[in-house]
Amino acid sequence: MATKFVVTLTLINRDLFFFMSYSDIENKLNSGKIIILDGGMGAELEKLGASMDNNLWSGRCSVDNPEIVYKAHQNFIQSGSDIITTNTYASTPISMKEYGYENHIEEWNKASVKIAKNVIDNSNSNVCVAGSVSTYGSWDRIEPKFLKPGFLKQLSILSEAGVDLIILEAMTSSTRTIETLLDCSNEFDISIWLSISCALDRDRNQLMLGYQESISNSEAFFYGDFENSINEFKKIHDGPILIAHSDIKVINQGIQIIKSNYNGVIGAYPNNGFFKKPHWNVVESISPQEYYEEAKLWVESGAQIIGGCCGVSPSHIKALSVLKN
Ligand SMILES: [Zn+2]
Repeated sequence: MATKFVVTLTLINRDLFFFMSYSDIENKLNSGKIIILDGGMGAELEKLGASMDNNLWSGRCSVDNPEIVYKAHQNFIQSGSDIITTNTYASTPISMKEYGYENHIEEWNKASVKIAKNVIDNSNSNVCVAGSVSTYGSWDRIEPKFLKPGFLKQLSILSEAGVDLIILEAMTSSTRTIETLLDCSNEFDISIWLSISCALDRDRNQLMLGYQESISNSEAFFYGDFENSINEFKKIHDGPILIAHSDIKVINQGIQIIKSNYNGVIGAYPNNGFFKKPHWNVVESISPQEYYEEAKLWVESGAQIIGGCCGVSPSHIKALSVLKN
């Protein structure tokens, strides 16, 4: 009897004090507080010894090296992340079919959520899991009607596996592809955040929807005027809009453009380094202290959600986390 009583109390206690729900994040955002995301899972996993799939990067680590995925999430939580993101960016049905892993779509995506939730359960921290649903592999050669089944499938798997929110990582995608993803996400009863990338067209001195992972080291690709794109997305999306997978030098300008066109919550998680096959390179990288100094400017410009994309480590996130209020 005594044992049963203790167990019951433990469960109640856990529910009251350790279980984070999305409403906690929402309340913090509504009261003007800062939410800290995690950093780049791929680089952290490689640092911890995981091997990347050439085409599908870190998704299969959840099956091959779950203990390393666990450790990477744990490192970000210990650095102050309020939200950890599943390593499902490249585990999209479209890309997994293309590279011969069609029969593992549910397995990889579900395993990724399970690991993230286990880390949180064992950490006694108020942390939420964001499911990363992406446009990876959609490219622009595929018509929206052929994209939809894949987007719906990943949204469905991650939602049912129990993520607290979804981040649509529509980075490096055209307006058409992003709008198709937003349309699909509106069919689900879960909070949706949109992350997009931007790059500077230096000839016209204009910020564009597009991508340039590093101004010094990567080529730029443009899809259209950034401001116009925001005004299109807001017609079908009212959740947070974040700038991701972009050079840190364009982030503040991007935040200011979103701020002057959108009343919703804004966030940013730029890159640190650049991609050169087959690895993300963090040479000429920015230090945690410099990253923190930049992040202060994003917050001053109106960003409430801050974190890091490729090459951003737990030490960068730790430096940012002092901006929580
Ligand atoms: Zn990135």
